[in-house]
Amino acid sequence: MKTAIRQAALDLGFDSMAVSPLSVPAREARALEEWCREGRHGDMAYMERTLKVRTHPEDLFREAQSLLTLGVSYGSEDPPPSPAPQGAWGRVARYAWGLDYHDVIQDRLQRLCFQIEKIRGKPFSSRLVTDAQPLLERAFAFEAGLGFYGKNTNIIVPGGGSWLFLAEIILDFSLEPDGPPQTQGCGSCRLCVSACPTGALSGDYRMDARKCISYLTIENKGVIPHEFRKSMGSWIFGCDICQECCPYNAIPRESRWPEFSARNGVGPWLDLREVLSLRTPEQFSRRFKGTALTRPKRKGLLRNACVVAGNHPSGELIPFLSAALREDPESLVRAHAAWALGRTPDARRFLKTAWESESQETVRNEIELALQAA
Ligand code: SF4
Ligand code: SF4
Repeated sequence: MKTAIRQAALDLGFDSMAVSPLSVPAREARALEEWCREGRHGDMAYMERTLKVRTHPEDLFREAQSLLTLGVSYGSEDPPPSPAPQGAWGRVARYAWGLDYHDVIQDRLQRLCFQIEKIRGKPFSSRLVTDAQPLLERAFAFEAGLGFYGKNTNIIVPGGGSWLFLAEIILDFSLEPDGPPQTQGCGSCRLCVSACPTGALSGDYRMDARKCISYLTIENKGVIPHEFRKSMGSWIFGCDICQECCPYNAIPRESRWPEFSARNGVGPWLDLREVLSLRTPEQFSRRFKGTALTRPKRKGLLRNACVVAGNHPSGELIPFLSAALREDPESLVRAHAAWALGRTPDARRFLKTAWESESQETVRNEIELALQAA
């Protein structure tokens, strides 16, 4: 039955499927606990709240008897991420170029369940898991032998690379787990560790989310610490640096899912002038609905756009940044717009005018710092 289910998964466009054991070694749970205890999860309090369930699929679905782990490539050779358009553009991480993977994958998991019911010849119950539910999916994928951990903390599939979404189906009937775990690994390579611009990777297969641009631009709801702003470079949403440099991704496995193609979503670059002009949640929703870029919400994405603008100072962006500083309803956006203007030539008078009318102390402080820098 497992062979028939695997074939059905491949026919539906999944790139890999393996049956995971229903539990992972205790060291995985300990590593996660330690990661949280050290504060490396940043403000992701939900990680702490869901520590136990992440390694216990039966807590997500009481009837759990087996766990299918599926891999879907979002790799793409088009459009190439470089040469970069200069100045007024921000880069988007590859996984978010197309439509929101949560919705797209959920639909295909449902279709796979219909196929499994046909193969099995009788109904069953299941729980579909995308990254929206708490499960330590990389650990389960590793135990099933689907791929190995890279020093960039991603699961790498030999011959397939790491441009991969993981998803799971928890079933109420039993299937023999696959495995054993892959023995292939990174060896002495440290390319991703050296390439990470913020030092988030320690080389021991662990990452400090508080330093990671993906966390800072997506999960982080507050201020982007000054010490990481320059290192963000052009990244407005996520970061691909530690995957782009990985030799296992040298020949990307082209995604077979048109939903993930740049043509069907926002693509690899966002126009900062457009993003900085989105002043209401409705405008933001109209532009980004159906894509993963809704995650940081309007204020988070505009905050990121300001940082990217500050990293590529251009007179062209002064009207957009000064409008954000003057008019944006979110103090978070105004404060980051001030920082960007402080790095932009000929923007001093806009900072002075804004300082006179600004009532929020945090923004005034940021304007004062920007005036010192300007
Ligand atoms: Fe570093 Fe970027 Fe990788 Fe995060 S995503 S670990 S910032 S290279
Ligand atoms: Fe491993 Fe090198 Fe890839 Fe990093 S770049 S994940 S060290 S193979």
